[in-house]
Amino acid sequence: MTEARTDVRSDVLVVGGGPVGLACAIEARLAGLEVAVVEPRTGPIDKACGEGLMPGALRAVQRLGVDPDGHAIAGISYRQGERVADHRFRAGPGRGVRRTTLHTALHARARELGARFVAGKVDAVTDAGADGVTAAGVRARWLLACDGLHSTVRQLVGLEVASRREARFGLRRHYRLAPWSDLVEVHWGRTSRRT
Ligand SMILES: Cc1cc2nc3c(=O)[nH]c(=O)nc-3n(C[C@H](O)[C@H](O)[C@H](O)COP(=O)(O)OP(=O)(O)OC[C@H]3O[C@@H](n4cnc5c(N)ncnc54)[C@H](O)[C@@H]3O)c2cc1C
Repeated sequence: MTEARTDVRSDVLVVGGGPVGLACAIEARLAGLEVAVVEPRTGPIDKACGEGLMPGALRAVQRLGVDPDGHAIAGISYRQGERVADHRFRAGPGRGVRRTTLHTALHARARELGARFVAGKVDAVTDAGADGVTAAGVRARWLLACDGLHSTVRQLVGLEVASRREARFGLRRHYRLAPWSDLVEVHWGRTSRRT
C-alpha cells in the first residue's frame, strides 16, 4: 500500500462539497468536530436541478443556520394534457431557490463555522489504522462519501452494488419572468413513464 501524503488532520473528512457534503460539514462543526471538505470545483457549483426545497428540506437548512433567498412555493401541480392533480403542502411552504444561491449560502455557513476546504479530488482512500483513513492528503477519523450519485468513494471502499443504470437526459433553461402560480408545475410528456 502506498504511503499517502498527509498535510491536513481532521476529525471528519467530507468528500464532495455539494449540498449534502456542505450540510454534513455544518452538522459536524455544530457537533464540535474538526471538518475538512475535499472538492475539486470552486465557486458556486451549478447543476441541472428543479431548484425547489420542499418544506422539510427548508426547515432542515434553516436549522443549520442557512436561510437562502427564494420564492415561496405552496405545493406541486402535476399536469398531463387536461389532467391536473394539485397537492398543497400542509406543513408550511417550501421555497424555490437558485441552486447557486443555495450552494453559496451553505458554503458561507460552513466557512463561518470553521470548516476547512481542500481543493482536490479523492481517487484513493488509504486505511490509516487506528488513525482512521487518508484521502487527498487529509487524515481523518471519519470519512463521509458525499461525492454524488456515481460516488467514486463508494467504489473505492468496496460498497458499490451492481445496479442497472439507465441513460438519463436532462435539459434545463432559466427564464426571467414573474411566477403565474404559487405551485411548482410538473408537466408529463405523452411518452413519460415511471421506472
Ligand atoms: C434534473 C434534476 C432535478 C433535481 N431537482 C431537485 C430539486 O428540485 N430539489 C432537490 O432538493 N433536489 C433535486 N435534485 C436532486 C439533487 O440535485 C441531488 O439530490 C443533490 O445534488 C445531491 O447532492 P450531493 O451533494 O449528494 O451531490 P452533488 O450535488 O452531485 O455533489 C457532489 C459533489 O462531489 C464532488 N465530487 C465528485 N467526485 C469527487 C471526488 N472523487 N473527490 C472529491 N469531490 C468529488 C463533485 O464535484 C460535486 O460537487 C435534482 C436532480 C436532478 C438530476
